[in-house]
Amino acid sequence: MVVGVNCGHTIMGAGCGADGIINESVYTRKVGYALMEILKNSGVTVIDCTVDKASSQSEYLKAVIDFANNKGLDWFISIHFNASTGHMANGVEAYTYKGRKYQDALDICENISRFGFQNRGVKDGSGLYVVRKTKAKAILIEICFCDNNDDVRKYHEAGGEAVIAEAIYSGIQNKVENDRIPFDEYIGSIAQQDWKQRRILLPSVVVAQAIKESGWGTSELARNAKALFGIKQNGWKGKTYMKTATEQKSDGSIYKVENTIWRAYENWEQSVIDHNDYIATRSTDGGKTLRYAEIIGCTDYKRVCAGLQRCGYATAINYGESLIRDYIEKYYLARFDEYPN
Ligand SMILES: [Zn+2]
Repeated sequence: MVVGVNCGHTIMGAGCGADGIINESVYTRKVGYALMEILKNSGVTVIDCTVDKASSQSEYLKAVIDFANNKGLDWFISIHFNASTGHMANGVEAYTYKGRKYQDALDICENISRFGFQNRGVKDGSGLYVVRKTKAKAILIEICFCDNNDDVRKYHEAGGEAVIAEAIYSGIQNKVENDRIPFDEYIGSIAQQDWKQRRILLPSVVVAQAIKESGWGTSELARNAKALFGIKQNGWKGKTYMKTATEQKSDGSIYKVENTIWRAYENWEQSVIDHNDYIATRSTDGGKTLRYAEIIGCTDYKRVCAGLQRCGYATAINYGESLIRDYIEKYYLARFDEYPN
């Protein structure tokens, strides 16, 4: 599925948004970019249809739609905040072509209204250029009134863009669930691409590790740190995330290490690439030898998994075996190792 997200209005000048208690143009971007991030991490292809500058309002609208209509979108979502002359109006509403009551549009309003906003419902947006002119199914969401004290307070109390973006996402989630690329396919395509270019870690093994370590992308690290593999900081200069680690001793007993610092990323793709970098460069003797030398470029998944175990990739004592039995063979992940050249 391809979703276009438009953070409503230009930043300033012609086409800019309402200036209420909060500035519409600023907040459409906060919500829109948070939504894009959630969609991307769900395996949806996201097209950023935001236009920051234009010489007139009509040029702005045309720029957005010309861009969006070129991208083969299934869905076009435009994010806005409302305003009214007396600053008294309040609540959430959505606009669709001819006011079509799409289930996802109804759900989005319902989800946002749960934070205490009045639900003004789904209305006829045929008069709105971005709704009328888009080829894709379009929705314009007015999250709440940016010039109304109560609405702005509720917006902040609810938790701001993170929760509003989540509410919009859950409104369209059923659609996403049906259309989205399965986790193994998504990670598999990234792993294959990198394997073709760099020949570091066999794709079937990368996917097995990602599934096992992140619980199919549902773990705390996968969701909050976009980290699929649980690599500790180890000299990493990028973002980090703190969380307790669970380790296993060679006798099988489990112990915990509080406040462990983990590598964090912008998205899952970065996590996969960094995991390969890590395998390719990890050394525990100051660079004299590479810890994973024996598995780099190896095309036999059984040898790679045994090698990961032997080289001490994980403290879990059956880690390598489990990759083979519970993941690669169970889910036919070796299909990612075979492709026409
Ligand atoms: Zn607006």
